Amino acid sequence: MSRLAAVRLSHFLPSLLLLAGGVLAASLARLSEFFASLFNVLPTLLLLLGGTFCLVYGRQRELFLLLVLYLGYFLLDIQLDHYRAAGQVRSDAALVFHLGSLLLPLLYGLYAAWQERTHLARDLVARAAVLLAVGGVALGVARRYPEAMLQWLSLIRWPSLHGEWMSLVQLAYPLFGLAFILLLVQYLRAPRPLHAAQLLGLSGLLWMLPKIFILPHALHVMSSQVMLVLVAAVVHESYQMAFRDELTGLPGRRALNERLQRLGRSYVIVMADIDHFKRFNDTHGHDVGDQVLRLVASQLRQIGGGGKAYRYGGEEFTLVFPGKSLDECLPHLEAVREAVAAYHLQLRDKHNRPQDDQQGRQRRGAATAAEVSVTVSMGVAERGLEQRSAEEVIKAADQALYSAKGAGRNCIRSHSQRRGAVRLANARR
Ligand code: GH3
Ligand code: MG
Ligand code: MG
Repeated sequence: MSRLAAVRLSHFLPSLLLLAGGVLAASLARLSEFFASLFNVLPTLLLLLGGTFCLVYGRQRELFLLLVLYLGYFLLDIQLDHYRAAGQVRSDAALVFHLGSLLLPLLYGLYAAWQERTHLARDLVARAAVLLAVGGVALGVARRYPEAMLQWLSLIRWPSLHGEWMSLVQLAYPLFGLAFILLLVQYLRAPRPLHAAQLLGLSGLLWMLPKIFILPHALHVMSSQVMLVLVAAVVHESYQMAFRDELTGLPGRRALNERLQRLGRSYVIVMADIDHFKRFNDTHGHDVGDQVLRLVASQLRQIGGGGKAYRYGGEEFTLVFPGKSLDECLPHLEAVREAVAAYHLQLRDKHNRPQDDQQGRQRRGAATAAEVSVTVSMGVAERGLEQRSAEEVIKAADQALYSAKGAGRNCIRSHSQRRGAVRLANARR
């Protein structure tokens, strides 16, 4: 259930746009000279750039996907070049094309579903060995028994299942279907941009193969786009890794630092800290601590008034309100503080799970001891004459947070209030 909730259209959107662009460009009868030359070199460029990136950062899976795609592109391109130059296909064209239609979905599905192991060097050797073995056997048999192999490939095994629309050898379709199911299951088990990209990349291949000898640019354009889809997904995930906090899904400290560089003349910064968080960890364990962090993050994410939440570190969060004044932010902060305090978190006890839905409903109805609530304290500061840089404003918000803790927690204090309170205390003395 929680996994399905992580399925996002945004995982598919960039790949869909790239592939739609590819379908459009490939369907054109003529491409301008610039684009024709671009798509001529793009697969090689993507293999070199994307492949190096994957190799350096240990993304073996995508490295081999790129390799498989490039090999397929390269072998088919030789055929296409000959066809264009001589006006007829080479004698081995049918064999290469049919073999490609089988090997591409087979190897693509295999590498896309093959999770990386911890030992990177061994993983690399294993993948290379599979590629060499499959490629070597296919090449060996094709060279030695070309006629027999062509016959075996072109055989219609299931006449009742054969459709007029099938322009590839019949065997290719169950392979595409299998790879598709495998990658769909993989995406549903772990919904992430790369898994979505792999799934759509396969659809791109299925679209491309039957059109290679029909549309003049189908091979170059679609091979480029499918490789681009994969490289873009790897880069996107790397960006997320660097800028997003994995536990809460909020942008992390690095993203905050980036944002702080481009704040205008007026803004408000809020430091929020979970009250007595150490106690949660000590009493219920780190799992519950993490649950609490996710809960607070999900409430802070919904902050109104143009604010944006970041995980500063540990159980501290930062909210940034660009172009806003303190008075404009306070009602929104108060609303979030109240929402967090009003939320009753059901503790997931692994040893005491409800047996069925009915039991689950009964337990939810009853107020059990396995329910906790959590509060946050916040310190707010505004850019002004005294705090001119973002670092100074953060420091001021931190001091205000400190006074919120001193004032009994579960409350909001602003830096100006805090100064007023200090002045008041000094006057009393
Ligand atoms: P206060 O109300 O004064 O803020 O008290 P506190 O207990 O919340 O503050 P303290 O700074 O003493 O404790 C913070 C704890 O947060 C200590 C650390 O173990 C825990 N912590 C930091 N990061 C994580 C995390 O990612 N997951 C979990 N479960 N705990 C974390
Ligand atoms: Mg703290
Ligand atoms: Mg705390």
